[in-house]
Amino acid sequence: MESERTKEEGGRKRSLKVKSSVDGGEGNGPKAPANPMVKDELKIKEMLASKIARLQIGDESMDVEMDGIFSDGKFVEKSVQAWQESLESGEILRMETTVGELLSHLAALHKKVGELHAKYIITREEITTSQESCQKVITTKNKLEQLCRELQKQNKTIIAESRKMAEDEDAKRKQLSQQFQTTIDEVSVKMEQQGKDYVASLHENESLQNKLKAFLAQYEVREEHFSHQLQAKDLTIQLAEAKLKHQIELTKRESEKVELTLEKAQQIAAREVALQEQLSAYSEKFDTVQDTLSKSNTMFVTLRTEMDKMSKHIKRLEKDNAALKKKCDQYDSGAIEALQERVRSTEDARRQQGKINKLEALCRVLQEERKRLKESVTPTEPTEAPLEMTCAGPNALALVLSLMEEDRASEFTENESIKLSFWRSRLVKSKLKLKLQNIRVLDPSGTWCNCWNNNFELFGISHLRSPLNVHLDPLRPEGLRDFATATNQLSSQVIDPPTSIPFNKKNRAFATNTSMFSENDRSFFGCPSQKLFAQFHTRLAKDYNISSLVEKEKVCTISPIFDSTNKTPSSYKLQCESGQVIMAAKVVVAIGTQNIPRLPQWSIPYRNAHRVYHSSDLVAQGLRTVQRRYKATKPRVLIVGGGLTSVHLTKQSLQWGARHVTLLTRKKNLLVQPYDVPLEWLSPTLRDKMRADFFADMNPLTRLHKIKDARRGGSVTRAALNQMYSIANPNNFNHLGDATIQHLEQFDDHIRVKLSTGITLDIDEIILATGSDVNIKQEPLFKELLPHGVKTTEGLPLIDDDLRLIPSMNVFVMGGYAALRHGPTAGNLMGARAGANLLSELLVGDLTTIEQLETHHHMRFLCGKENMYELLQ
Ligand SMILES: Cc1cc2nc3c(=O)[nH]c(=O)nc-3n(C[C@H](O)[C@H](O)[C@H](O)COP(=O)(O)OP(=O)(O)OC[C@H]3O[C@@H](n4cnc5c(N)ncnc54)[C@H](O)[C@@H]3O)c2cc1C
Repeated sequence: MESERTKEEGGRKRSLKVKSSVDGGEGNGPKAPANPMVKDELKIKEMLASKIARLQIGDESMDVEMDGIFSDGKFVEKSVQAWQESLESGEILRMETTVGELLSHLAALHKKVGELHAKYIITREEITTSQESCQKVITTKNKLEQLCRELQKQNKTIIAESRKMAEDEDAKRKQLSQQFQTTIDEVSVKMEQQGKDYVASLHENESLQNKLKAFLAQYEVREEHFSHQLQAKDLTIQLAEAKLKHQIELTKRESEKVELTLEKAQQIAAREVALQEQLSAYSEKFDTVQDTLSKSNTMFVTLRTEMDKMSKHIKRLEKDNAALKKKCDQYDSGAIEALQERVRSTEDARRQQGKINKLEALCRVLQEERKRLKESVTPTEPTEAPLEMTCAGPNALALVLSLMEEDRASEFTENESIKLSFWRSRLVKSKLKLKLQNIRVLDPSGTWCNCWNNNFELFGISHLRSPLNVHLDPLRPEGLRDFATATNQLSSQVIDPPTSIPFNKKNRAFATNTSMFSENDRSFFGCPSQKLFAQFHTRLAKDYNISSLVEKEKVCTISPIFDSTNKTPSSYKLQCESGQVIMAAKVVVAIGTQNIPRLPQWSIPYRNAHRVYHSSDLVAQGLRTVQRRYKATKPRVLIVGGGLTSVHLTKQSLQWGARHVTLLTRKKNLLVQPYDVPLEWLSPTLRDKMRADFFADMNPLTRLHKIKDARRGGSVTRAALNQMYSIANPNNFNHLGDATIQHLEQFDDHIRVKLSTGITLDIDEIILATGSDVNIKQEPLFKELLPHGVKTTEGLPLIDDDLRLIPSMNVFVMGGYAALRHGPTAGNLMGARAGANLLSELLVGDLTTIEQLETHHHMRFLCGKENMYELLQ
């Protein structure tokens, strides 16, 4: 106890000592001394006291446990009372106990007070530290605030400056852009002017060329004429020489005659002299010989008679001479006429020869025809050709033209074509001559593009939907435009591009021009007329000498022929409708997309009852027949379908004489877009990417969806709508959108149609403008090929990259059937071009010599169109 107390007191003393030393004897907290030395000392003391206090209280928290100290508030009073009571009662022991308790309570109190003091010191030191750090913080804060104010000031200055700079820059930029715009405007005006000048010079060139050609033709004609004249002159000279000789002869003879006559005259004169001598002798003898006078008179008379005879003879000779002269002149003119006659007859003979040639050709054709007919009556050995083409539509024409063109370079630009001509003139000695007999083209019509022409005629389509840069010229992309320019038809036969095409005014050369179409493209995106298009392709067919290549024949089936050893077919047998069988090493099928009309289920029973027609039925009937029927019956027509054909047919039906036309579409409104695919597929900047994206997608189903998305279930052009509305009005036309046919009832003289909208219509005729299906499984032509492993997705064949229907077979497809390879444009002219470029490269090897083929590759390489390293391999 004693020791504990001593310890406690020691601790308290120490604490107090520390306290007094820390307090500086004043006990009112530290006062900041003025002297910094003292200040430091005080601080160290304070820190020491704090350390000691910390050591005293150990690591405990700053809470002080006061339990038991103040638990009994009346403990001291009670103890004092107990001590007094024990004092009064004299209970020393109790007193001692009470005092002991009080003392121990006091000791506990002391201890707690010490503890509290130590904690007080720590707290005070912490407060001081806090205050110091607070002071520091306040100082820092003040400094920061000061800094902030300065920064704000600077910031404001900077903002003001930058605003001023921005305004200045803006003004400058505006000025610059104004200058730039002015420059661009000036440049575009200049370019426009240059373009006009270029077109004018083109026109001028063209007319000069024409003039030159005419001049050359005239020159040739003149030359020919002159050569004829020279010949005639030669002949005239020869004739004149002959005449001269003859004349000399005659003159000689005449002079001989004259000499003779002169001789005779001399003789006569001599005789006269002799007679005169005789006369003188007689006159001398007159006197003497009177008797003989009468005799001499008689002799004189005789002499006179003889003289008269002689003068008559001279006259006759002169007459003869004149007659001979006349005859000679007549002979001269006769000879000239004969010569002219000869020239004329040579001309005639030439003409006749031409006719004979034509007749011979005709004979040959007729013989061929006869042979074919004979063969069809009595089937003989099938004929064989290396390449067979089933069809004669634009796709087939594009391919044949590409095969015929030695450079086959429709992807060549104008500049590249110039390069090509340069190299061709230097490298190619002989023109590539393709053996035409190696290609056979079969089509039921027997002519090129008959189906296309019939469609355009029946639907009354004046202009193509595709742009001017899409055509079948195998060599030059500008071919159709240049043909229009050369034949002076550019302004009359090509309409402006659809207004919805966004042509960017800027030149394509500017890197900032990232538009789909630039002003440079404008001249290629107008739409050509069908007239111009047909003229151009007739000209191409004529130039490449393939006008009469198409044979009138419909192919029914294509069957592969295998020999016993080989798994790949050695040839293909084409069974034709006429009975003819043709064998071919390779077959290209480009039968278009119109063989399988798309018919709604409800229409099938009525189709043959002359009330429901598919648009292809009308094409097959022909324009005149349909026109006549409409004129006679003036029908009320219901046209089903929301594509371009339905719009064309509405216009045509009204023009043919229909009383009323109702257009029924599944969609609420007609979808208007300039081309049958979105603009991206035609944009010079985007189309390659669109195709690349399409090829990159290996899944045929996704490809099919991409095709369907692009074609959007059919669309119409603004131009076709305008044409339709120029004749259609609320009295003769109405459009029912969002509707389908639900029920159909046929009466004797009309049909009653119930629509999904509840409307009932009484009409005379339904035309289905519902398009056609491309389905290889439904096309009889492919029937024999299907079992050999043709793969399909929704009817479209999964062809390989070379357009082969089956990888192991040489049967190729073009057009709509190649859609999974060529994408959404496969069925139109763009697809035809793409297919022709691809196939011609592949097939030309069969139709030309190796040398020609090598030269061809060489040329392409020189024009940067082929890989040099591949060539060197
Ligand atoms: C009204 C209309 C307007 C169009 N306008 C445009 C346009 O402006 N621009 C454009 O790019 N596209 C247009 N098209 C699409 C056009 O059809 C194609 O561009 C083009 O006709 C495709 O050519 P093709 O050779 O594949 O088919 P087609 O032109 O249909 O020719 C196929 C040929 O194959 C023949 N054939 C079929 N079956 C057989 C058989 N078994 N044996 C032998 N021969 C057979 C047919 O008789 C026909 O001559 C239009 C289509 C239509 C219907």
